[in-house]
Amino acid sequence: MRRPHRAAADRENLSRLVRLSKILRYLGGSARSAGFVGAALLLAGCAGEQPRPDIILVSIDSLRADHLGCYGYRPETSPFMDQLAAEGVRFENAISTTSWTLPSHAALFSGLYDSTHGLTDDGQRLAQDVLTIAEVPREGGYHTAGFFGGPFLHPTFGLDQGFDVYRSCMTATMEAVSDDDVRQGLELDGHPSHGDVTSPRTLEEVTLWADTQVQRPFFLFLHLWDVHYDYIPPREYVELFDPDYDGDLTVEGFSTNPAISQQMARRDLEHLIALYDGEIRFTDDHLRLIFDALESRGLLDNALTVVTADHGEEFFEHGGKGHRRTLFDEMIRVPMIVHWPGRVSAGSVIQDQVRLIDIMPTLAAAAGLEWDLEIQGRDLSPLLQGSSMPAVPSLSELFVDGESLRALRTGDRKLLQKGATVPSWLYQLDADPREMQPLLINEIEGPVQTELAKALELRARLGLDQSAPVELDDDLRERLEALGYLDN
Ligand SMILES: [Zn+2]
Repeated sequence: MRRPHRAAADRENLSRLVRLSKILRYLGGSARSAGFVGAALLLAGCAGEQPRPDIILVSIDSLRADHLGCYGYRPETSPFMDQLAAEGVRFENAISTTSWTLPSHAALFSGLYDSTHGLTDDGQRLAQDVLTIAEVPREGGYHTAGFFGGPFLHPTFGLDQGFDVYRSCMTATMEAVSDDDVRQGLELDGHPSHGDVTSPRTLEEVTLWADTQVQRPFFLFLHLWDVHYDYIPPREYVELFDPDYDGDLTVEGFSTNPAISQQMARRDLEHLIALYDGEIRFTDDHLRLIFDALESRGLLDNALTVVTADHGEEFFEHGGKGHRRTLFDEMIRVPMIVHWPGRVSAGSVIQDQVRLIDIMPTLAAAAGLEWDLEIQGRDLSPLLQGSSMPAVPSLSELFVDGESLRALRTGDRKLLQKGATVPSWLYQLDADPREMQPLLINEIEGPVQTELAKALELRARLGLDQSAPVELDDDLRERLEALGYLDN
């Protein structure tokens, strides 16, 4: 049954003032007050000729694009996502801002590059001044709900901003959803998140929400965790992808498991990849069940869905495993599928390079929410409607072991730079898609540094460089480290 929209007047005045003042700060204060008035009117009104869509954003952790059927993978890992792609638009070249969970979700949520939103270390939380993908629709009258399966999405890290409902679907530990409960939750015995299985609980929680809390229009965010290592799909999914394996590889403790190394036998590596594929299929099957649950409650009749991932995964293509190590394409090229029946051309494939940071403004525009904000992400509506857009590069960054790594990717070239040292590596992606043959460039100043300077300049202009990050306290940090949360 269709429920009435939440009226702005029903919301608490103080809360609304806080949110509006946040937008005012974000817009640059009184100097941009004309823009603020326009934004406020649009956010408060939002009257469109067509009913505003319900919006569903799905982020599948650690899902590299080239392991999905619709991206050309042969084992049948993703029949449901393939169906969404066949009925919607698939972006062939969607690029993440980094190769690990926390900054990439901050970028997805803010439309900002990592050096601009500033959440690049697991000792920080997202600055309150960042306007997020949930705050914008909530301000526009949307009901906002988020369900997450991994620890970096926990409210401790600040990604819950703007959600009316924000619920953990982790079953191992850290189930508490309020900051005050985190410490208590961490005291519970349980397994580290790497061994957690969260999709079934996500299905349960979303179904419960759909039965008891949903209001329309809604913005629903799903973070599905099971593709993340350790790869431990149920037995039937192992049978699907590697029925003949008779070796003794075990994948528990993936990140420190010495059996999973560059020296491992080829057959064991094939099995490892089959287990990853099994987790993708397990997740795809649960995504279908979640959508079935929404559909049977009439909640998909006007829905815009985007499916993407925070980053990819490496299987020793460049000498390592897992993620948060490099910025090669197996790390940063992610799926992006837009499903919007009747509004986008079914089965379209767009080759233009797009970015994870483009999703936030694209969804806001689809909801009729437009404002005079400066972010790096772009509304992709023209591409979705079959028009063209000027090409822009994509900046990806990684800060690890005290060093920075940056990649600037255009459609057919990628420039990789470590700190401010020479040489940089240039890859010709059209001739060398696996990034094996770099050209060395002995210049420091160049396009990477230019793009970085622009990102930092925007950070300063938005005042985000002055918002103090909240440090994890020592006790929480210790507990997270003990559970292995701060190493992935
Ligand atoms: Zn992740």
